[in-house]
Amino acid sequence: MSPAIEISSSNELSAICAADLAILGGPKAVPQDEPDLFHWPIVTAEDERAVVEVLREGSMSDLSVTRRFEGEWAKYQGTRYALAHCNGTAALLSAMFGVGVGRGDEVICPSLTYWASGLQAMSLGATPVFADIDPRTLCIDPNDIERRITGRTKAIVVVHYCGHPADMGPIMAIANRHGVKVIEDVSHAHGALYKGRMCGALGHVSGMSMMAKKSFAIGEAGMLCTDDREIYERAVAFAHYERAKEEITFPSLRPVVAADGFPTGLPLGGIKGRINQTCSAMGLTQLATYPQRIAAIQDAMNRFWDLLEDCPGIRPHRPEKGSGSTMGGWYNPVGHYAPEELGGLPVEKFVEAVNAEGGRSGRGVNFPMHLHPVLNEADVYHDGRPTRVAFADRDVRQGPGSLPVSERVGQRAFGVPWFKYDRPESIAGYAAAFRKVALHAGELTRRA
Ligand SMILES: *Cc1c(COP(=O)(O)O)cnc(C)c1O
Repeated sequence: MSPAIEISSSNELSAICAADLAILGGPKAVPQDEPDLFHWPIVTAEDERAVVEVLREGSMSDLSVTRRFEGEWAKYQGTRYALAHCNGTAALLSAMFGVGVGRGDEVICPSLTYWASGLQAMSLGATPVFADIDPRTLCIDPNDIERRITGRTKAIVVVHYCGHPADMGPIMAIANRHGVKVIEDVSHAHGALYKGRMCGALGHVSGMSMMAKKSFAIGEAGMLCTDDREIYERAVAFAHYERAKEEITFPSLRPVVAADGFPTGLPLGGIKGRINQTCSAMGLTQLATYPQRIAAIQDAMNRFWDLLEDCPGIRPHRPEKGSGSTMGGWYNPVGHYAPEELGGLPVEKFVEAVNAEGGRSGRGVNFPMHLHPVLNEADVYHDGRPTRVAFADRDVRQGPGSLPVSERVGQRAFGVPWFKYDRPESIAGYAAAFRKVALHAGELTRRA
């Protein structure tokens, strides 16, 4: 397929950037979008064969394909155990139960994330307590964790946000000093490295989504990974009653499997977390090609950001080169936005102008959870007061201004195109759209 735009010299790039902004009636920097450059997941005949075989066998609810997928995933991840789930939310709930989160406990997590990184604490009688994020990594800030640890803190949830590895070294040191468990949410970062080590194998347990929009995308699916046999068995006891008789050995979990006559165990808490085997089948075929595919994404995304290195107002969200850390599949890639370098142009106006150029931008980041009414007003279990107050037995709510970086980041980040192939000419065109708007920001500021 031919690139939408041929950019063979920096002269052509300069010409694109010198033209009038598309939003003001000029020519688009990307005259023709290339949807196939962004399409995901890449599905081949092999994926189709594997999924259809499960359907034809009627084995959607069986475990044989799932066990093979778990084995392969554990090898890839570098953990002793991998336990597949019906979605990432369930895997993270199992992980919380696995480390012992229960009534009256507190779980420290970032506010700037998808809700399933932390809200499940409220299903276990516990409450989330939010820590702020580091403005560079957009991941939980190790310097804001320790002061939030109390006698009730059971776990810290770390999200490798938009593929960027969190600073796990200091986080693990704090957790180990206080006897608190670390749960990694790897839903954005399958295959990402932190200082050469695989994200998802660094904490005490990890949970991740594998739903259709993530960088490892196999449907509605999730995975829990750990080296800790007790955490693994607790997760089985909580959400996988059908495998409990085979897998449970810890005496504390005996009630799950102790009844004679029952063909299976009974789950602790009544959750059914089993994955559909069509997803496991696609998991096996997708995993076989995943390392090569994310290598292409790495090349493409780094190329895009390298082209914008000296552009005012925008910076890459990625680890330092040579740090040994990588962005995995670059799920939901974002850039940092510095409006003070662009005459104060609000990020929404920047994004709007980039999209008019055909540049594929967007908001990029979540809204911070701590300001949502569910965390401040909702009385979920009829306690006569907000659940977060009832469960913590003190007011842990965090109002406006309590997490300044998380609250500000919506004005300081924007979405960038998520390239799936390294096509230099095409990527140069999309990069030109961002540079063009940055260079013309003054014209937009005057109109705003
Ligand atoms: C997608 C996502 C989840 C939840 O996974 P599901 O598979 O959608 O249940 C959890 N955490 C983060 C950070 C996510 O982005």
